[in-house]
Amino acid sequence: MNDQSPNSWESRADAATFYGFTDLPSVKQRGAVVLTHGKGPYIYDVHGREYLDANSGLWNMVAGFDHPGLIAAAQEQYARFPGYHAFFGRLSDQTVMLSEKLVEVSPFESGKVFYTNSGSEANDTLVKMLWFLWAAEGQPQRRKILTRINAYHGVTAVSASMTGKPYNSVFGLPLPGFIHLTCPHYWRNGAEGETEEQFTHRMADELEEVIAREGADTIAGFVAEPVMGAGGVIVPSKGYFQAIQPILKKHGIPLISDEVICGFGRTGNTWGCETFGFVPDAIISSKNLTAGFFPMGAVILGPELTDRLQRASEAIEEFPHGFTASGHPVGCAIALKAIDVVMNEGLSDNVKRLTPRFQAGMAKLAENPNIGEWRGVGLMGALEAVADKATKRPFDSKLSVSERIANASTDQGLICRPLGQSIVLAPPFIMTEEQMDEMFTKLGRALDKVFAEVA
Ligand SMILES: *Cc1c(COP(=O)(O)O)cnc(C)c1O
Repeated sequence: MNDQSPNSWESRADAATFYGFTDLPSVKQRGAVVLTHGKGPYIYDVHGREYLDANSGLWNMVAGFDHPGLIAAAQEQYARFPGYHAFFGRLSDQTVMLSEKLVEVSPFESGKVFYTNSGSEANDTLVKMLWFLWAAEGQPQRRKILTRINAYHGVTAVSASMTGKPYNSVFGLPLPGFIHLTCPHYWRNGAEGETEEQFTHRMADELEEVIAREGADTIAGFVAEPVMGAGGVIVPSKGYFQAIQPILKKHGIPLISDEVICGFGRTGNTWGCETFGFVPDAIISSKNLTAGFFPMGAVILGPELTDRLQRASEAIEEFPHGFTASGHPVGCAIALKAIDVVMNEGLSDNVKRLTPRFQAGMAKLAENPNIGEWRGVGLMGALEAVADKATKRPFDSKLSVSERIANASTDQGLICRPLGQSIVLAPPFIMTEEQMDEMFTKLGRALDKVFAEVA
């Protein structure tokens, strides 16, 4: 399948591009998929093959790959003012308007926004904000960051330390002071005979114990995705945030919601924290903030952290941090349009409308004897493959079952993502019923094919 001739796109891709998060043996064998363009939820490769992208790119291309309004917003802003920064008290009018909009649609009555180019940088920025404000308040020892196993918060040195994935050990990460609590995945981590309520209780007890062990006065903050995305769409056990938030409050530990995936509609509401019924102290946003049309991240601080950071900054006359392209005018113009498209042009309504069909499709595929669990909320979901449904025993990882399912899907023109032993689906918000049915039909065929080979 891999065209190995030296001038093929596959060979050229391999010759000079270093792949990240890519299974190299698999690409060696199959060749990279080199893309030329997209149309609605479909993408097209250099050979003219069409793929339905059931992952919205990387969760972010929620308005599809050719949205005319977003393209026009970019073109207009490029013609008007194609680039600027946000340092030294100079910033674009688009940046001002986007900050107002983000605070308006946030769960906060007031707040302030800081811009980055990615979700990783937004998490790094947030951690530096916490370190800075605690130090300014006379508690420089409050530096530890609590997150959870399986959490994904990015790849820069700090955000990778927040991420709770074993692969980061190859970099000697996490850095000291990044502490990972148990992943609140009841199906996988619930003990024999333990109810979901008891499990949630145990997660809260663990948090209390970790705070007692480490000392509350050494902890800067707790960062959590409402639903873990790259961890495999892990929906927290019932009442999880209601159980942990009072503990964090009691110890003065800020709760930060990493909404890079959940934000702007993915879970059926504007924010994941809304879906799960809590109000955090700050929000991290990226990915579909610009519907994937521009690299941009944002830290949205609620009123209390805004005041504290403002005071800390005024004391030394600045917050010494920022990226050259922070608050880029084109990115901000696109984000303003993307928010409008998602919230006011029917995309968010379409998520709500399609969710029952999506979940019914997942539930149907989960009847397969080799699917242990389907889980999800809104338009994000995962199917977890198991060798034995009753005991939840996973397949031998050497079988690479989820990679094989994803490859079998790709062969039929469907892009879905293997994550651990799961297959993850995060369709774009513009999807139609017919496209959703196409997605499930193709995925069902891929499951049948692979399970027939390995089961
Ligand atoms: C993708 C992601 C990030 C990192 O964003 P990048 O733009 O890839 O740096 C952070 N947090 C969550 C929850 C994510 O899904």
